[in-house]
Amino acid sequence: MELCTYKINIRGTVQGVGFRPFVYALSQRYLVTGTVSNNSNGVEIILNTDTITLKQFLIAVEYEYPPLASIDTIEHCEMTYIPFESFEIIQTEDSGDITVNIPPDLSICKECEKELLDHTDRRYGYPFITCTHCGVRYSIIYDLPYDREHTSMKFFQMCKLCEEEYNNPLDRRYHAQPIGCHDCGPKLNLLDNRGMQVEVITNEIEKTVNLLNEGKIIALKGLGGYHLVCDATNKSAIQELRKRKKRPTKPLAVMVRDINMAKMLALISPKEEELLVSQERPIVVVQMKDKYSSDIAPGISKIGLFLPYTPLHFLLLDKLSFPLVATSANITDEPICTNLESLEKLQNVYDYVLDHNRDIVNGCDDSVLMVVKEQQVMIRRARGYAPIRIELPFTLKEKVLALGANQKSTIAIGFKNQVILSPHIGDLDSISSVEYYEKNIESLERIYKFFPKVIAYDKHPKYESTKIAKQIMEKNQDIVSKEVQHHHAHILAVMAEKQITSKVFGVAFDGTGYGDDGMLWGGEFIICDCEDYERVASVEYFKLLGGAKAIKEPKRVALSFLFSLYKEEVFTLNNPTTQEFSSQELDSYYTAWKKGLNAPLSSSMGRVFDGVASLLGICQVMSFEGESGMLLEELFDGSVTGSYAFNYENGKIDILPMLSALLREKNISISVSKFFHTLVEIVAAVYKPYDLPLVLSGGVFQNKVLLGLILERFPKAIISNTIPPNDGGIALGQVMATMNTSRN
Ligand SMILES: [Zn+2]
Ligand SMILES: [Zn+2]
Repeated sequence: MELCTYKINIRGTVQGVGFRPFVYALSQRYLVTGTVSNNSNGVEIILNTDTITLKQFLIAVEYEYPPLASIDTIEHCEMTYIPFESFEIIQTEDSGDITVNIPPDLSICKECEKELLDHTDRRYGYPFITCTHCGVRYSIIYDLPYDREHTSMKFFQMCKLCEEEYNNPLDRRYHAQPIGCHDCGPKLNLLDNRGMQVEVITNEIEKTVNLLNEGKIIALKGLGGYHLVCDATNKSAIQELRKRKKRPTKPLAVMVRDINMAKMLALISPKEEELLVSQERPIVVVQMKDKYSSDIAPGISKIGLFLPYTPLHFLLLDKLSFPLVATSANITDEPICTNLESLEKLQNVYDYVLDHNRDIVNGCDDSVLMVVKEQQVMIRRARGYAPIRIELPFTLKEKVLALGANQKSTIAIGFKNQVILSPHIGDLDSISSVEYYEKNIESLERIYKFFPKVIAYDKHPKYESTKIAKQIMEKNQDIVSKEVQHHHAHILAVMAEKQITSKVFGVAFDGTGYGDDGMLWGGEFIICDCEDYERVASVEYFKLLGGAKAIKEPKRVALSFLFSLYKEEVFTLNNPTTQEFSSQELDSYYTAWKKGLNAPLSSSMGRVFDGVASLLGICQVMSFEGESGMLLEELFDGSVTGSYAFNYENGKIDILPMLSALLREKNISISVSKFFHTLVEIVAAVYKPYDLPLVLSGGVFQNKVLLGLILERFPKAIISNTIPPNDGGIALGQVMATMNTSRN
């Protein structure tokens, strides 16, 4: 049969997943000549073959592609004949729009684990072992395509043996970009907290294991940043860590050696197990068997567990008999530390640093997930899952940059029919986090050679992200701006993931978002599509005493509720909330409440949770975000039925009847349980007249009890499984809102 030359283009997750070696192996099977290469659109194959073999070859690509890959499209065409002697993997240069995915970080694979513990293997105990199927990606990438020279591995010269493996198409390490060994790869370095090298007798791992056994706190360089780690069974070590990090009660994540150790500590469902052992290796929030250690999560029976995901973690855990507390090394409100320089600020927190000399190019926190009614709920989307490419149900008219919100910020770029969503960046409350945020915009724009024509941002004039949007627009007059209301964006994020463009009924419950009337919304029921929304109902406004201060102090919200209920009579009340204030304070807050002085109006469901927690004496001042909701979950009793009254009229939900009934209840667990049931009744009452899909979003839906109850009542309710319901999803929703935005 006549030999022709064909060009095959494959798009999808096809780089950094062993795709080229896979194609090479196919070329040997079908005895074809040509080339395969990565380019900025994916993988390109040039093939000399006949039409029948071509067909077989394409079918094999489509059905046998490597486990970590996914294919969006395969296209082929005939081209001018080029003679080839053999089949080769080559590099190609090209330009134009980049549509390939940035591959997320990947944890260690089973085969590498085996070699790591095999005394006869030349990589025995090598803390940076990788192969084509495992090991770093996103966090070491400067640029695409994912080739060694575009990563922080470019500073390491391969030794002869590694080079042979790298160039042998039949080797498991063929073109494994971060390949290395004891001789040629990155090296560990153990330092004390003044940056002085620690003398090591055997090796750094042994020494670190000894230090952990002694109860020391170690700053450990991981994939996307440093962790602070210590013995999770050592009370005084944990207390010391909490004291030094000024983190009195916030739950700490725990790294366990393997799934068996996880099962000793917690009740783990099959779905949770699947996530824990997955190659993404997220932190999974699970139910503790008993209050394992009240120091890890005081007052809370849930624990965030994860398995080792780098060979270094694996080697340490293998030699330890206990799990490790492993919390991101960062200063409050600042991004995770990614180099020794930034880590220095935590000198007083850690005793030693287990460092290494491979640069972290892109910082990336651990991802956090939970499972509710067998559905995956993303709480923080980062390492292993990000960046993500989401396919839109339509084609954008222009290139869009979406700047997200102010808390848990992420950014997104949208072009054609796709969105690239950055990993979790964090709260924009400090100069360094804003710098980090801007660096993320730059990297996405650089990697994707992207210049936006439309900028989408939140309506809140004081968000740092909004300010940055305005700065960009000032410099580029022809950029079109698109303001997107916060709760509309929340619902749109779910619609993007589920590819919905038709009208839906959205319930957006969160802490705060800027409303069209300038008030602080957060208990919102909207009917929306991509373009527009209508606010059909919301929680009746209440006053936040002290403005922003009320966010951290549930007692202020509760006091405001009490004033609404009882006016001056509050002075004579004696309950957990009023006990928190002196009579002088009550007096002045009452005046402030009456006159609306420093008491902005809000409909926030997050604040309702806070207020309830204070009224019941559960939480008066929060030491971390979401604390009140977590503590309320603990008191929920599944056997309690019934709910409290509320009024729903003219689109306003009056919760005061619920609050006054709740105050009269004798048993706190009954109050809490009925409170949750009342929220479900509220959703049911507002949703009732509408024959539209029910979509839930907003940070309050991270509450496992509330989400579980609503999903029980409305099994068809739509939630996001891959995008966080909190503000981490806002940027994606903002891109959705630009569906029809174009210049002119
Ligand atoms: Zn491997
Ligand atoms: Zn080597």
